[in-house]
Amino acid sequence: MLERGEVANSWRRERWDSLRLLTPNWQCRLPGHRYDGPDPDGYLTMGEVTEFIERFAKVSGAPVQAGANVTSVRRTDGGYHLTTSRGEIACRAVVIASGACNQPAVPRLRDGLPSSVEQLTPFDYRNPAQLPRGGVLVVGASATGVQLAAELQRSGRPVTLSVGEHVRLPRTYRGRDVLWWMDASGVWDQRYDEVEDLTRARRLPSPQLVGTPERATLDLNALTSMGVQLVGRWAAVRDSRALFSGGLRNVFSLADLKMERLLDTFDEWAREHAPDAEVGPPERFAPTRPPGSARLQLDLRSGEIATIVWATGFRPDYRWLDVPVLDAKGHLDHEGGVLGSPGLYALGLPVLRRRKSTFIHGVEDDARAVIDHLGGYLAGRR
Ligand SMILES: Cc1cc2nc3c(=O)[nH]c(=O)nc-3n(C[C@H](O)[C@H](O)[C@H](O)COP(=O)(O)OP(=O)(O)OC[C@H]3O[C@@H](n4cnc5c(N)ncnc54)[C@H](O)[C@@H]3O)c2cc1C
Repeated sequence: MLERGEVANSWRRERWDSLRLLTPNWQCRLPGHRYDGPDPDGYLTMGEVTEFIERFAKVSGAPVQAGANVTSVRRTDGGYHLTTSRGEIACRAVVIASGACNQPAVPRLRDGLPSSVEQLTPFDYRNPAQLPRGGVLVVGASATGVQLAAELQRSGRPVTLSVGEHVRLPRTYRGRDVLWWMDASGVWDQRYDEVEDLTRARRLPSPQLVGTPERATLDLNALTSMGVQLVGRWAAVRDSRALFSGGLRNVFSLADLKMERLLDTFDEWAREHAPDAEVGPPERFAPTRPPGSARLQLDLRSGEIATIVWATGFRPDYRWLDVPVLDAKGHLDHEGGVLGSPGLYALGLPVLRRRKSTFIHGVEDDARAVIDHLGGYLAGRR
């Protein structure tokens, strides 16, 4: 097991200070190892996640070689040849578990913006004190964007949030964490070959959720109440002005509608499986409030915006992979984690085998299936 940094490297190095998991503690489980602390309904801090994964590495006896950066993987007659910062390795099979979020995905709009405006990605961002005083434009309203917008607004910096397609969710529903419902109702277990539009499902942004001790909902209505100004998707830059799409009302309606449909699915499941005592009565939430008049442009030279935070998602990095298994967008082309090159596998990608694949608790089922296939492959070669 080769790791370029330390165990739990992404949680140590690539996250901001205040981040907590958005999955509740009771859901923190890896094969044979689960959260057993005093607060099952809470959400782990980054220090706690790191400890959790470190402990798992110890109890599972994982043969981790830390500080081993893989710089090349090539196909050979016998299998694969790896070049790493700790030497060369020949092996029959490789499982790529290098993560789905190795680098921030930042749109080209970032080029050619006035140099007076500072630009940050979630990989550079640690806390508000790092930013100059003045307005902040947060681009992207998924989990990262809504969390950073709230934190920066609370720090006294006026925040404008550029909102595109997003997934709205309440933190709790009928008295339970919304992720309890995802689990219990079977939505998270939905298999990749049962999902209607798999390409879309794999690209779905993260839900607008935050893990806080108060279990607060952090949707766009909550942000509006805090004073965050909402604008549409950032579409273009002209003469140093950011131009935003109109039609925010439609974007909101769509997200509200999808949330309602998901809540309907939960209610349907509850009618059959959850006795009334276990869950509260059905709830419905106020529609997302559109701003009175959403601004369609912002002059980035005016001084109103001092910093832009790109919360526009993350992408994997396969620059070290010298086997032709990537699609046109640079993603691994795979069937449930099995790649087109014999003996090459992947884990930890969105909807790899199930909707929960990319979450900590989601890897177990995927790993079993992928390792089964790998075992068969090695046995066949023998
Ligand atoms: C901001 C953010 C918040 C998240 N919140 C949650 C959450 O609340 N709950 C949840 O379940 N999931 C959450 N996730 C998803 C989370 O990333 C996964 O659940 C989990 O970290 C995936 O583990 P992984 O081992 O597949 O990938 P990673 O954690 O990315 O680990 C991949 C490892 O591979 C190493 N690596 C990469 N390339 C190489 C190389 N060439 N050579 C050697 N080593 C290499 C990296 O250093 C890294 O340690 C979040 C993700 C992000 C980005």
